[in-house]
Amino acid sequence: MSQHFETNSIRISSSRSNQKEHSAPIYLTSSFTFDSAEEARATFAEELQGNIYSRYANPNSTDLIEKVCAAEGTEDGIATASGMAAMFASIASLLQQGDHVLAARSLFGSTHQLLTRVFPKWGITSTYGDISGYENWDKLVQPNTKMLFIETPSNPGLEIIDLEWAGKFAAAYNLILVVDNCFATPYLQQPARWGAHIVTHSATKYIDGQGRVLGGLILGKKELIKEVQFFTRHTGPAISPFNAWILSKSMETLGVRMDRHCQNALTLAEHFEGNRHLEDVKYPFLGSHPQHHLAVKQMSQGGGVVTLTVKGGVARAQRFIDQLEMISITANLGDSRSIITHPASTTHSKLSQEERERVGITNGLIRLSVGLEHPDDIIKDIEQALEKSK
Ligand SMILES: *Cc1c(COP(=O)(O)O)cnc(C)c1O
Repeated sequence: MSQHFETNSIRISSSRSNQKEHSAPIYLTSSFTFDSAEEARATFAEELQGNIYSRYANPNSTDLIEKVCAAEGTEDGIATASGMAAMFASIASLLQQGDHVLAARSLFGSTHQLLTRVFPKWGITSTYGDISGYENWDKLVQPNTKMLFIETPSNPGLEIIDLEWAGKFAAAYNLILVVDNCFATPYLQQPARWGAHIVTHSATKYIDGQGRVLGGLILGKKELIKEVQFFTRHTGPAISPFNAWILSKSMETLGVRMDRHCQNALTLAEHFEGNRHLEDVKYPFLGSHPQHHLAVKQMSQGGGVVTLTVKGGVARAQRFIDQLEMISITANLGDSRSIITHPASTTHSKLSQEERERVGITNGLIRLSVGLEHPDDIIKDIEQALEKSK
């Protein structure tokens, strides 16, 4: 196949029937037949390649995996029913009781719950490190540390972790480096290039792009994926063929959509920087972002999320949100429609105020997932809401 993201995302497709259809059909079937008892035996024994049962693999999920693997530069992968199923399976399948995970503090809310509430039940513990001082991380490694888990840019703080540092650090301590690449998408950033062994995705976000279906991906080196595959085949977080079909179809337009998401987000960030109603505007490709140098080193564009910190804390943030006329109030992101979220009172309300502050979630912080509407209309809606919420 070609080297280019755009072409691979459109042209890779192994799921064609003998009907010569031009576009991929949906293989809405739970199992697959064999021509003989011998073929069934050989397929189960993995002497023959072939589909067995959709909990194991399905042509639609294989299509999706092949496209995202080509984009990430990874060898193999698994598609799951949601992003969290992918986060869970990547940790649960590769670690065991007594193992320890080192993670960057700024993690997606449910990933934080997994590490602090779910895995300790099975004797897998974790420690958080702060990205403000990489020199302190050596002290956080324990004899039983097996995995380094990071997310960059982080949700919703938009912190950027140095992937080159992470790759070298993981190699030095023989850790499995897992990177949740959801925010950047494989179009903007490929963690495997910097040494990530496993790359995970919530495909629900930009890969879907219209807020319709849930899905997740676990990608990486063949030998690790084999281990994860054993786990997922027998525990059952398989993606539905329909959702895999939607997501594979969405990969065809991920590049053009991300170009526009990023262009709109940068336009908005530049427009609102210094606005008198705002304490802060954060976007990885703004020169004022604290890790701007890293963002431009490891990402081709800044992504589709901008954070705005309104003056006046929670009350003002909520007044502002209530005055929006077009932008949706919802917890999702990566949609064609612009979305606003107030993390302190919703997605991150379970964290204590202190925990929130440590990951940069102040009371006035607003996460804006910049959609594909005309940027002037998004700007106009925010401006009128800021004005009315004074
Ligand atoms: C949404 C999200 C997840 C979880 O994905 P689901 O598809 O909602 O299960 C994990 N990580 C990040 C960074 C996310 O934004």
